[in-house]
Parts: sequence; C-alpha cells; structure tokens
Amino acid sequence: MTHSTSSGRGVIRTRIAPSPTGYLHIGNARAALFSYLYAKKHGGTFILRIEDTDIARSKKEYEDDIFREFAWLGIHPDEGPEQGGPYGPYRDSERGESTRRALEKLLNEKKAFYCFHEKSELAASEGSAEGKFEAHVCSYRELSRAEAEAKIQNGEQGIIRFKNDSRETISFSDLVRGAVSFEAPLLGDFSLARTIDQPLYNFAVTIDDAEMKISHVIRGEDHIANTPKQILIQRALGYPEPQWAHLPLILGSDRAKLSKRHGATSVKEFREAGYLPEALINFLAFLGWNPGGDRELFSLEELAKEFDLDRVQKSGAIWNQEKLGWFNAEYIRRRDRVSLVPLAQPFLQQKFPDHIISTNNVEAALFLEQSRLVKLADIGEESALLFREPEYDTALLRWKDMTDEDVRAALHRAGDLVETIPGKLFADAVSFEDRRAGIEKHFFDALGAGSKGKILWPLRVALSGKKASPGPFEIITVLNRETAIHRIHRAIAKL
Ligand code: GLU
Repeated sequence: MTHSTSSGRGVIRTRIAPSPTGYLHIGNARAALFSYLYAKKHGGTFILRIEDTDIARSKKEYEDDIFREFAWLGIHPDEGPEQGGPYGPYRDSERGESTRRALEKLLNEKKAFYCFHEKSELAASEGSAEGKFEAHVCSYRELSRAEAEAKIQNGEQGIIRFKNDSRETISFSDLVRGAVSFEAPLLGDFSLARTIDQPLYNFAVTIDDAEMKISHVIRGEDHIANTPKQILIQRALGYPEPQWAHLPLILGSDRAKLSKRHGATSVKEFREAGYLPEALINFLAFLGWNPGGDRELFSLEELAKEFDLDRVQKSGAIWNQEKLGWFNAEYIRRRDRVSLVPLAQPFLQQKFPDHIISTNNVEAALFLEQSRLVKLADIGEESALLFREPEYDTALLRWKDMTDEDVRAALHRAGDLVETIPGKLFADAVSFEDRRAGIEKHFFDALGAGSKGKILWPLRVALSGKKASPGPFEIITVLNRETAIHRIHRAIAKL
C-alpha cells in the first residue's frame, strides 16, 4: 500500500535503519543507496533511523561512523537524528513511549503475552518461517496479565511474545522477488520484547516504520524471514503494510556471503584505503542492479534518474574487487587534481614520514601518478624520486649498446639542455602540464630524431634510478632545475 496525498499520488518514504553495533557495513551502505535512489527517483523522502534496540552492543562511536560514512558517500538523509524531521525522534532508543504503548495494546488485547521459559528451554525453539526449528507454541500463552505481573513482582524474568494464532499462508508481493509466502504457524509465538521497555528488532522496526509512514521497506534479503513476523505485527496493530523489496545478498567471489574473510566489509575501511566516494557509489549501485546497456559510469545524481527496483536482480550479487578498482581508477583519473590533494596528502605523508609533505609535493606526486592510481593509498611508488636520491647500478644508464663514454657524453648533453630550459617555464604560475610541454619542446627542438633515445634514456635513469618510471620531462617538471642537474652530475661521477 502507499500513503496517498490529497493529489492522490503515493508518497514514497524509504529508510535505512542501521544498528550502531559496528562500523557501517557495506551491505547497509548498498541498502541505503538503493533506498535513497528509489526515493529520489520518485520525488520521495529518505530517512535515516538509528536502530539501537540492542543497547548493550550499541556504541556512540559506531553511530558517529554511520553519520560520517553517509555524509562521505553523499547519501544525505532528508530526515534523521542529525536533520530532525516531522516523525522523530530518529533514534530507536528514544522511541520507547511508542513501542511501550503498542506493547500495552497487544498485551491488553491478548495478542501478546509474557513467557517465563528459561533461555535454555528456548534455545532451539524460536520460530522461524523457514521452518528450521520446531515452532515454539508457548505454554504461557493463556497466562493472564495479572498473573504475569505477579510473577515479575516476584523477580521472575519474563519476555513478551506474540500470540500467533494465524493458520494462514502469509503472502506478499516483493518488488524484487515477486510473490513470496511463508506459513504463519511455523513462526510460533515469536518474541517481541525483552521487557515492556526493551523491544526487540522485529517489534521496534515495525512500530517505527509505521509511525514514520515508511511506504517501501528496501533491505537485504537476510531480513526476508523477518517480514512475515512484521506483517503479523502490523495486522495485529492495524497498521498499513508497506511495499517490500529484498535486495540480493552480496557474495564473495567464492559465492559465500560476503564476510571479513573476503577482506574489507566496512565503508570506513574503503574510505581509509583511498577509494573515492563516487567510485564506491557507482560500484555499489551495480551490486545487484544494472541500467541495461553498456554505460557504466554514473554519478549519484545520474543514478537517481536511472534507478528503479524493477532492474534489481534476484540472484546473489558478486563482489568483484577488480571492478571496484577499475571504477576507482576511472574516478581518480577524472578528478580535478587540486580536489585530490587533501585526500592523497595523508597517504603520501605516511609513506615518507621523514619529510613534511607540502601541498606542492602532493600536487607533484599526483602529476606523476594520478593517471595510474587504483587507489589513493598506492600513491608514493613513483613519486619517491621527489624525496630521495635514486640508487641504481650504472649499467642501467646504458641505452642499447652504448659505452660508458657514450653515456657520459649523453649526460653532458642532457645537462646542458636542462641548464638552458627557459627560466620562465619554472615560474610558479606555470601549470605542470604547460611546463612539461615547454621542456619537451626545448629538448625536441635541439635533438635530432636519431639521438632522442640515446639522450633521454640515460637522462631518465639519472633522474629516477629506475628501469621504468615517468618520463624525463615529467620528472624535470616536478624536480627543480638544480635537483635535476645535481642528479645528472651524480650519474656522471658514478661512471
Ligand atoms: N538494523 C537492521 C539492520 O541493520 C535493519 C533491518 C531492516 O532494514 O529492517 O540490518
């Protein structure tokens, strides 16, 4: 069902309800993205609700991480603990009054009851719609409220269960999976709350979704077995049923459910490894969805135009780390260099702890490496030459069958050419690209076609000390003239 407005059009309200019991999981980020995109596509509202029902395991640090990662990803909720909104509070722990009222109602109407079984008696009997366990049809289900209260007064520990009398098949039409049904009796008398003030997930989520007028519950398939319980609670309380959309599980390359064993699973880890938010967004969007056609690069805004649930696949979505690297490299390449400087700075600083890494250093490193980086954490490999004098075997200076004498002559010639690069090319205002082009022209004007390799190979090795490195003009661009000359003289002296 959809909640209608006066204009008769359904109002789309979607939500993400992460539990702050760990750093924001990549699966939650994908569910949030799909919920966000669906809302944006249809002019709806996206809500962030912190689901801290498990007080003991919930931590402020993790809640802060949820806010931080969503802000970093650019998934900005329209309503949430930080934004506020008309259906707050947006933190489950602050919604006790609502859940208590609903629990009271069910208890008074004998649709819920207190159960006093010991944990050990229950271990294997919590109902599951998949029929994995024998359903728990509780022997306390007819106990009166007064009798239950007397037991609690006596210090007995009770939990509140749903009195499941349904003999029905509970069916719903899932926007991803199509018709889904579960046998209600298999659910047994499932639990709702630890105490009147401590609702459990299935109960709290149902009350919160209803009170926040959530129209579409879009979440991972791992929750699908909870849906029939939530439907029974909705029916018992007279709530409208939202639309459901269960997203395919995220699987590792071995087709097992993605877990720590496969590598990073929190958004924080990807951010800290130097993935760009736009790359992670683009990659996550394709985890279970595709727009049809060959196009792969989409910004968040573009995704919000393209996305719809009818193109979400049913089968598991396989995590392809190489593909994520491909997206990241693409987006790094496309980024304006200046915007990458603050992001790359910490990585470069970490690689060269003995230097104070300036903005100029980072720009120079990016000039050398941006086009080849897979993730920002990889920076520093080629730009080590900015900070360290190269060490190498003099044999490396030889191009083809050059003798030491040839190399010495070539390096003298290269040194002269570096000396005569027009000074204006080294002015601060000249971009690296223009400087590089000017240096190249200066060399090419002077060198005949046949002599290029003979001069440029020894020059490049003298500057970088490596068999493979950025070209000599790139390197001279980022080293100042004096450093380049010094390295050339050093090479001559080594011969
Ligand atoms: N706190 C639950 C989770 O993070 C929310 C599930 C739901 O969306 O209903 O998995």
